Amino acid sequence: MKLTGIGVSPGIVIGKAYIFASERFSIPKIHIDSAKIEREITRFREALTGTTGEIQELKKKVTSEIGDEHAHILDAHLLVLEDTLLIEKTIEKARKEKLNIDYVFSEVLEELAGALSRSSDSYLRGRASDVRDVGKRVLRNLLGKEERALRDIGEEVIVVAYDLSPADTAGMHREKVIGFVTDVGSRTSHTAIMARSLEIPAVVGLEDISHRVASGDRLVVDGTAGVVIVNPDREILKSYEEKRIRFEVRERKLRGLSGFPAQTLDGRVVKLMANIELKDELPSVLAHGADGIGLYRTEFFYFNRPDLPGEDEQYKAYRYIARRVAPHPIVIRTVDLGGDKFVSPLEIARELNPFMGWRGIRFCLEQPEIFKTQLRAILRASTEGKLRVMFPLVSTLAELKKAKEFLEEAKKRLRERGESFDENLEVGVMIETPSAAMIADILADEVDFFSIGTNDLIQYSMAIDRINEKVAYLYRPAHPGVLRLIKRVVDAGHSKGIRVDMCGEMAGEAQFAIVLLGLGLDGFSMSPVAIPVIKTIIRSVTLSDAREAASDVLKLSTADEVEKVLSKINAGGVV
Ligand code: PEP
Ligand code: MG
Repeated sequence: MKLTGIGVSPGIVIGKAYIFASERFSIPKIHIDSAKIEREITRFREALTGTTGEIQELKKKVTSEIGDEHAHILDAHLLVLEDTLLIEKTIEKARKEKLNIDYVFSEVLEELAGALSRSSDSYLRGRASDVRDVGKRVLRNLLGKEERALRDIGEEVIVVAYDLSPADTAGMHREKVIGFVTDVGSRTSHTAIMARSLEIPAVVGLEDISHRVASGDRLVVDGTAGVVIVNPDREILKSYEEKRIRFEVRERKLRGLSGFPAQTLDGRVVKLMANIELKDELPSVLAHGADGIGLYRTEFFYFNRPDLPGEDEQYKAYRYIARRVAPHPIVIRTVDLGGDKFVSPLEIARELNPFMGWRGIRFCLEQPEIFKTQLRAILRASTEGKLRVMFPLVSTLAELKKAKEFLEEAKKRLRERGESFDENLEVGVMIETPSAAMIADILADEVDFFSIGTNDLIQYSMAIDRINEKVAYLYRPAHPGVLRLIKRVVDAGHSKGIRVDMCGEMAGEAQFAIVLLGLGLDGFSMSPVAIPVIKTIIRSVTLSDAREAASDVLKLSTADEVEKVLSKINAGGVV
């Protein structure tokens, strides 16, 4: 049986499945005498206190082993334990109906979780799983059951689950878990990020794998292709065994390049940087020899939590990264919330067309407190390493000027507070709307660098929603319209003497490396694992050949023609 999902962490593993199913408790309904009901309530309060202690312990462990970002989920869990509605309703119902507290609590819990999961607000929907997770812990304590955890695993396994919470992963026995596969999830789900940072092959979004596989089944997990094979026959097994060895040899060889610059045969050096979302991706960034971080997406600070991240919390995170990555630069992108990327305490109306809606810089300019808090945090951390700041989704000159004014206000405030910062902090703008690309020469006067965000630039220039599968066939970086826009931006930036980088997915795709080099890109920022591949390509060509390739490709009329020529160029022994 072959199942296809989303490969979120590359590599191949072959091993035994271990089903990590969520626990189900059977809870009897028992009538309790009036005289004994208060004892039930005391039992309930003790279980709540015990659970609070457990979660606080876990939080400490997650913070030290994985990072504060994941620990916030556990803050949300602690809040559930303080939920008066849940607690008071349980106590009141137990007193009124004279039933055992475990039974009453499980009923009230399900009522609340059910109501949350039906909510139209994505933040509230997300809270339903918090409520269920915590509820299960309380029930376990009430029933005096031991916690079943991934740390009890005694042999090497591939964990198969509906989903894995950070708490599950934190308690996991690292040496024993060699792969993850889950029913749900996306590239940015916690399981995915964890798997990448631990460099464990993983496939998510497999829909119902946790029901189709039994513990002990043999699995092949291809985290690069997003494929899982259940109980493969000998031939398939052999071919994957070979693939696994090839992958490992190639990885080792590629990693060996990490100390070498991304320099062409005729001496042109470009910067290959990493895109990250969480600081726990740093070991992978360093291991793959990145020349810094070209895109630090900061949205993660705002997800899965009931409050907004404060200045100090952000400052500490930025400072940590600045120190770890120094002397290399780190480009912090100010938060690109809004549209579909919004799950936070702020009440934001759903939009019909979120990608064209109130997001990115548009959102920040109207939320000065959120924006300036982040800017102050970035500025304060800028004394520690080489930080740069970058604004997303700019489409007009006025937006960019206004964003810079906010930056000046943040600086002024810090001066008043007597805090220092890098007075020469470089400011950049993402070029990810067609209007920004067309006025790149004008925007260039305002900034120190450009970074082309092809993920959005392609969706807006092709007029297709980047997450709509029906129009995915139009999502072509090779479209001549896209290539011309890129050329225009690079030329405009260079004519004004500023650096032009790219941080969209296209920058890490091997087939485009030569053309992007030939178009004159100064820096490529990508998922850390892609860096050695792009470096190998850059190191095997000359800039003059790459320029010729770019100029040939720019003469073509369709994406098909471009891709055909690219595959010929790449087959010329380079990739
Ligand atoms: C982009 O649009 O290319 C980009 C890098 O930003 P994001 O994917 O976060 O929108
Ligand atoms: Mg973008």
